[in-house]
Amino acid sequence: MEKCVYCGKELPEKPVDIQVKNTTFQVCSDTCEAASQEYLRKDKKFKTVLYGIVLLTAIAVLISALSGGSNMLVAHIFQIAVGIAFFIFPYPISYFTTFRSCSISTVIKICKVIGVLLALSGILFIIL
Ligand SMILES: [Zn+2]
Repeated sequence: MEKCVYCGKELPEKPVDIQVKNTTFQVCSDTCEAASQEYLRKDKKFKTVLYGIVLLTAIAVLISALSGGSNMLVAHIFQIAVGIAFFIFPYPISYFTTFRSCSISTVIKICKVIGVLLALSGILFIIL
């Protein structure tokens, strides 16, 4: 049984098609279609922002680690930045086919949870 790429529910008898590049995906309703289109529009725009912040953070953490960890504050600040980025820009998926096994709404939820956890743990590390 095929599932709606947006909400993950089973598809009704007459699903709605959405065309992404050369692949057709199916969603269960007009609401899910609109939400998917909106997500794809934003994904295109903000994916580079998310990837950029993650890359910057990886570099910052690496530099902190190489400098003997004396500068972990910077790493934690970047960790909070990544957390916020994941929360605001939940677009980590490069291949839209991923949504066949994990719906868009699930990906958004996971991103928000990861984002909150990263930001909170970053704040805790700084306070402690
Ligand atoms: Zn749906």
